[in-house]
Amino acid sequence: MVWNGTLANAMTSSIPHLSRSNLLLLSTTTHLKENRSSFLKIVSVAGGAKRGFRGGIVAMAAQVQKSEEEWRAVLSPEQFRILRQKGTEYPGTGVYDKFYEEGVYTCAGCETPLYKSTAKFNSGCGWPAFFEGLPGAINRNADPDGMRVEITCAACGGHLGHVFKGEGFRTPTDERHCVNSVSLKFTPAN
Ligand SMILES: [Zn+2]
Repeated sequence: MVWNGTLANAMTSSIPHLSRSNLLLLSTTTHLKENRSSFLKIVSVAGGAKRGFRGGIVAMAAQVQKSEEEWRAVLSPEQFRILRQKGTEYPGTGVYDKFYEEGVYTCAGCETPLYKSTAKFNSGCGWPAFFEGLPGAINRNADPDGMRVEITCAACGGHLGHVFKGEGFRTPTDERHCVNSVSLKFTPAN
């Protein structure tokens, strides 16, 4: 592993809460192999907060952090209410509720790919439903009510909706990601 100041600077700038001294300590106590994947694994471990996602490269590389004011500037009022304030669109009204084109759904806040259209199914619940997200793209957090599990964009923290399991839908995972259309942006396959 070639350790130099440029690399340390790159790492500290990509992980603001990690100090340069932490990194230098890490470099002297860890046997790093000179390849990109182990470098990013170390970044992921050092980052700490990213436990739980697979293939940490994507999410770490795409971290999007904006202030509330910056989000307000780039999102519509409805997008801000749902993505940043954990709102919910009225059932049956979302543009992707009954939409089954082939393509990819990205985060409406940061454009990180979240779901493939092949994982979308008709749940009849009034919101777009997916049986799985793209690997590492979705974070899960217990709701304060203790009942539901919130799902968020792993890159920007934007609120997507909730995930439910064991409802008996005939899908490969028996999970339903119940997602607000407002939180998504569809990109056609072609
Ligand atoms: Zn996002």
